[in-house]
Amino acid sequence: MTYQTINPYTGETLASFPDATDGEVRAAIASAHDAFLGWRRTSFAERGRILQNAADILRRDSDAYARLLTLEMGKLFGEAKAEVELSAKILEYYTRHAEALLAPEKLPVLDPAEGDAILVCEPLGVLLAIEPWNFPYYQIARILAPQLSAGNTLLLKHASNVPQSAAAFEKLMAEAGLPRGAFRNLYATRSQVELILNDDRVHGVALTGSEGAGSVVAAQAGKALKKSTMELGGADAFVVLPDADLEKTTKWAVFGRHWNGGQVCVSSKRMILIDPIYDEFLTRYRKGVAGLVAGDPFDPNTTLAPLSSQGAADEVKDKIREAVKLGAKAEEVGPSVPNRGAFVQPTILTDVREDNPARHWEFFGPVSMLFRAKDEDDAVRIANDSPFGLGGSVFTANPAHGAEVAKRISTGMVFVNHPTKVEADLPFGGIRRSGYGRELIGLGLKEFVNHKLIDVV
Ligand code: NAP
Repeated sequence: MTYQTINPYTGETLASFPDATDGEVRAAIASAHDAFLGWRRTSFAERGRILQNAADILRRDSDAYARLLTLEMGKLFGEAKAEVELSAKILEYYTRHAEALLAPEKLPVLDPAEGDAILVCEPLGVLLAIEPWNFPYYQIARILAPQLSAGNTLLLKHASNVPQSAAAFEKLMAEAGLPRGAFRNLYATRSQVELILNDDRVHGVALTGSEGAGSVVAAQAGKALKKSTMELGGADAFVVLPDADLEKTTKWAVFGRHWNGGQVCVSSKRMILIDPIYDEFLTRYRKGVAGLVAGDPFDPNTTLAPLSSQGAADEVKDKIREAVKLGAKAEEVGPSVPNRGAFVQPTILTDVREDNPARHWEFFGPVSMLFRAKDEDDAVRIANDSPFGLGGSVFTANPAHGAEVAKRISTGMVFVNHPTKVEADLPFGGIRRSGYGRELIGLGLKEFVNHKLIDVV
């Protein structure tokens, strides 16, 4: 594990950074703790002022911030700009709403003569965030804005392939006026993650990443009796009911599966079509996917990005081969992707039968699994037949009925007539192997607070 920027489109190694030393990690914990002692006493107005400054700087320099994302992990430049804007919006959301969301709550009581019971939210202290490379800034904003708003301070261990994006966010917060130590990027090793979690001044960890990383870090946090939230993988169902407008639905399906190079935890990874529309959907979907243009992520005409690294691309190709060995049919779609760059040929997997374990896998790239459902009940059954429970969507001409079907899909988020999306003002998180806890809105704000009772008799 080395912190390096390797441009996934050109393969060039652009920069390398040494791992943090244990001494640096200990100093960062001490400085985050010292910062906490002051930060917890700052007003919401002061916290909001700094977050708003950061949002303003992101917008002012959005091209430069976006450029770094495209260089480090290959995201389309237009999508990188959208990520910068989304991150600014998250910072702004808490600027506007943190104080009201954290307001003391008078509890309903059985006997008012017993006095008042008030619940107040107090910050816990230093937290650790472990983040993935697929949305380098958004992932930071998603944890940083609520936790700083709540009065906590934060150490960051970002993915090893986006060290410059991590450093850029640290610099951003310093420029925005955040006190020294309140947010610190560390090029930490795995053993240092454990060191951090075992320190008494550190009170919790929020991890976004794979199930593998989640189970290791959740176990370490559990052993140290620290709270954790886990935002892990997903294999969202994209359910199409027979009355759906297939033209619009197919466009959303192509987008839902292929934005960010198909590397989104909430990508529409499993298309579930009711029998009478399966063939027509497949024909339209194949055509839509074939229309994607793979190429330089800085070129505005490119619509399919390379994957984040050659290793990631090789892993997806291996998984396709394995799924086929286990009985699936794989169809490569569209013109050949460039030889140069970490590209994977868009692939549609069909006939992924009930006994094929691949139907339960997460393909983190441009690979779509299509399932034929007998009817609506069968579509819901297939949607729920997954170890993951992150997002999902239902497409139909009848949104009220879509909402009823959404209730039967067992995940943390379901969208009617839209692939699972990420917004600054919507909660994010899942169940089962997709993890636990929620990020964003008031739920994320209250994940790492002491819900303290003050009872006045
Ligand atoms: P990953 O390998 O789990 O990496 C995520 C982060 O965890 C990185 O910072 C990584 O550091 C760190 N990490 C990995 N193993 C660790 C360990 N044993 N101890 C401490 N830290 C460890 O994830 P990925 O494969 O890059 O990212 C894709 C996965 O993330 C997919 O499954 C995707 O669905 C999921 N994801 C989920 C969400 C969500 O909100 N639910 C959002 C985005 C992505 P290194 O880079 O140094 O290994």
